[in-house]
This record gives sequence, C-alpha cells and structure tokens, in this order.
Amino acid sequence: MENRSVTVRPDNCCGCGACRAVCPVGAVSMTEDEYGFVMPKTDLARCIGCGRCVSVCSFLTPEKYLSGSLPIKAYAAVNRDEKLLKRSSSGGVFAGAARAVLNSGGAVYGAAMGKDFSVKHIGIDSENSLRRIQGSKYTQSDTSEVFSSVKEKLASGRRVLFSGTPCQAAALKAYLGDGHEGLYIIDLVCHGVSSNRLFKEDIACLSRRYGSPVRAVLFRSKRRPRGAWGELVLESGIKEYSPLTSPYYYYYYAAGSILRDSCHHCPYAQRKRVGDMTVGDFWRIETLFRSGGMNTGKGVSCLMVNTPKGMELLDMFREQFMLREVGYEEIVKRNGNLRGHCKADKKRDKLLELYRRKGYGAVASYYRTNERKNVAILKLRGIIPTRLKTALKRKLLK
Ligand SMILES: Cc1cc2nc3c(=O)[nH]c(=O)nc-3n(C[C@H](O)[C@H](O)[C@H](O)COP(=O)(O)OP(=O)(O)OC[C@H]3O[C@@H](n4cnc5c(N)ncnc54)[C@H](O)[C@@H]3O)c2cc1C
Ligand code: SF4
Ligand code: SF4
Ligand code: SF4
Repeated sequence: MENRSVTVRPDNCCGCGACRAVCPVGAVSMTEDEYGFVMPKTDLARCIGCGRCVSVCSFLTPEKYLSGSLPIKAYAAVNRDEKLLKRSSSGGVFAGAARAVLNSGGAVYGAAMGKDFSVKHIGIDSENSLRRIQGSKYTQSDTSEVFSSVKEKLASGRRVLFSGTPCQAAALKAYLGDGHEGLYIIDLVCHGVSSNRLFKEDIACLSRRYGSPVRAVLFRSKRRPRGAWGELVLESGIKEYSPLTSPYYYYYYAAGSILRDSCHHCPYAQRKRVGDMTVGDFWRIETLFRSGGMNTGKGVSCLMVNTPKGMELLDMFREQFMLREVGYEEIVKRNGNLRGHCKADKKRDKLLELYRRKGYGAVASYYRTNERKNVAILKLRGIIPTRLKTALKRKLLK
C-alpha cells in the first residue's frame, strides 16, 4: 500500500504527538531519537493509509493556527496574590487564569514535573493541584496523552484552559478542530525546548557532582529579584544558579546549543500568536517605566490578549492583578522570541555528536574545559545593572 502516513524530519516536527492521538489503529508511537528528542514512528504493517496523521500535523501548516492579526491589547501584569506569584516564573498570569477557570468548575491543563524529572502535561480539577503545573520547565513536556482528555471535558460542557508552547497550542487546535466555546488557550513566548532525556542525565550528573541526591529542580526561583535564576534542591541543601553561569544543561539550553531542531525552524516565534492569550517574561521592564505603582521585584509577565475570547478570560481575573497597558512593540523590542526563532549555537552539532558518541559525561567535561572564560565574562556582565549597561553603551556610541 502507498505510504500515506506522516513522514517526519527533525526540523519539521515539534514532537507534539497529535499524529499519535488521531491514528485510528494505533499505528503511531512516540519514540526517542539518539539525543532523546521525541519523534513519531509509524508501524506500516498496521497503517490503513487514512492520512489523518498528516492532516492533523499543525507544524506543516502554521498559518491555519496563528491569529489573523496582531494582539488586541498588551499589558505588564503582576498577580496580587503573593503565594501564587512566588510559585510562578514571572508575573503569575497563568495561575490567575487557572484559578478563575477552576473556580467556575472548569479544568486546567499544564506541564508537571514528576519525581523522576520527566515532564508531561496533566489536567487538574482543583486549586489544590495548581502548584504542580505552575512554573516553567525548560524541557519538552509530553502532550500526547492529554488531547483526548481535553476533548472529553469540553464535550461534557466544562470550561477548559490549556497552557503550553505555541506548537502545543496549535497541535491542540488541530486535534480538536473548530467550534469549542468553552476552550481557552494560553500560549507562551517560547525560546525552545531540549530533550527530557538530556535534562534527566543532567540531574544525575549534578547529583554526582554535589554528592547528594536531587529532590527537585526549579528553573525559575524567586529568591533573586531579577533574571532567570534556577534552584537545585539537593538533600544536602539548596544550590542556586543562573542559566548563563550554571553548569551543563541550563547553560547550553539558554545558549541554544541543545534545543530541538524544530525550535530553530519554529514558525510560531513571531508577533502573531496561536493562543487566545500569550504570556512571557517582561524583560527589562525597568527601562520602560519605574515601578509606577506596580511591584516589579518578584517577576512581571507580558500579557497579550489576542482574541475576544482572550479578553473574556482576562475579565475573569483582571481584578486580582496589577495591570498596565503598554504598546505591543515595547514588548517585542525586549523579547527576541517574538521576532524570530532562536538561532542554533555554532557548538550545537558538536555537542550533540559528543553526547551521541560518548554520553552526557563527555558534554559535562567539554563544558568544564571550554566554557570557563565565557562563564566568567557572563558573571561579570550579570553584576553590572541594566541601567548602567545602557548608559555605558550610549556613552561608547557617542
Ligand atoms: C520551554 C519554555 C520556553 C520559554 N521561553 C520564553 C522566552 O524565550 N521568553 C519569554 O518571555 N518567556 C518564555 N517562556 C515563558 C516564561 O518562562 C513563563 O512561563 C511565562 O512568563 C509565564 O509565567 P507565569 O508566571 O504566568 O506562569 P507559570 O506558572 O510560570 O507557567 C506558565 C505555564 O507554563 C507551562 N509550562 C511549563 N513548562 C512547560 C513546558 N516544558 N512545556 C509547555 N508548557 C510548560 C505551565 O504548565 C504553566 O501553564 C518559556 C516557557 C517555557 C515553558
Ligand atoms: S503531529 Fe506533531 S508529532 Fe506528529 S509529525 Fe506533526 S509535529 Fe510531529
Ligand atoms: S495514515 Fe492513518 S492509519 Fe496510517 S499512521 Fe496515519 S493515521 Fe494511522
Ligand atoms: S520554539 Fe517553537 S517548536 Fe520549539 S517548543 Fe517552542 S513553539 Fe515548539
């Protein structure tokens, strides 16, 4: 029989798993490639050639899932609830929206990290579980099992909030098709993801390095007022690190050295958005306005309302927020992933090849031998406040 199943190349597959979810005969499975990146694999002996896996693939037809125009409104946003804000990566917009949907009897879907550091999307029905899906996990989250669950909840008449990367949001839209009144989608501004396998091996490596088991990882800790500081919770205590100066995974993730190939060809890294609402970090907000009644010390989100439904969602929780309307271009200026996808670092191929041939230990020792100078420069840069850096730049350019 002619092969009508989905054929994938690493650069045009985000690993969303929608093809697996729609296959009527279970011929598609999600498997890991040599770097741990999840890819679909078709069992041709089972395939009946229906072509559903091809038509559901949103990565091939992004324009169908992007909004037709730019966001209706854009804001700087901070959740007034200190507890929710502390557990959030930036200004806690997701938690505010999630609480509103849960209080109206709805269900919320987001990424949760397991005890074994695997990351997958789960659905929750009560605020008691909200903590599990708060916070950014900078590794791929497995969505392939939640599509049907979202569909069932919507069919039962409940509201559903789904939050994820733009490619995951597009995949859900493609899977569900049009006409779901109760569905609200939040997509994130997205730098990209690396493989969950590399992340897990990093944890094992750090545990050996510090001589203590790792109990938890927070990519975005709120102990530090600014920047994207992470936190490694070891049995022997807490280690803090910034992505630019941390060892191995977080450093190479931030540098674009170990991202999924599709992230370097991402059609969703742009001004037009997939979700009803988009959230991200409001970087360098201090260069736009001094706090102006807004507490910016514990994280500020940029919040874009993309559709009338997004406005309806915002109206459900705006009371609990400090909101300040801003021009969308002010946000775009400060957030490269709204202007284009992350460029692959020139070391990417070398590092992945090193991993494939010699394992994660070789990546770690490459880091120790080759990145010391870069890390020292980045540490130094991190000490200089942004205002001073801008002033220095202006002076030098005069
Ligand atoms: C992989 C990734 C890359 C990102 N890159 C950027 C960037 O380049 N620039 C920028 O401004 N912001 C980026 N963000 C968004 C940022 O980290 C915050 O998530 C965002 O500012 C919202 O924060 P919050 O305080 O509202 O909510 P939070 O509670 O911090 O989290 C928001 C939502 O993110 C979801 N989420 C967490 N991890 C994953 C994952 N692995 N896959 C899918 N969904 C996930 C959670 O389920 C939750 O719904 C990224 C997020 C992720 C997950
Ligand atoms: S549907 Fe998703 S997992 Fe399947 S081929 Fe397309 S992008 Fe890849
Ligand atoms: S063509 Fe149909 S049967 Fe074959 S893998 Fe795709 S969805 Fe499954
Ligand atoms: S960069 Fe694009 S392809 Fe990669 S995770 Fe983000 S939305 Fe998906």
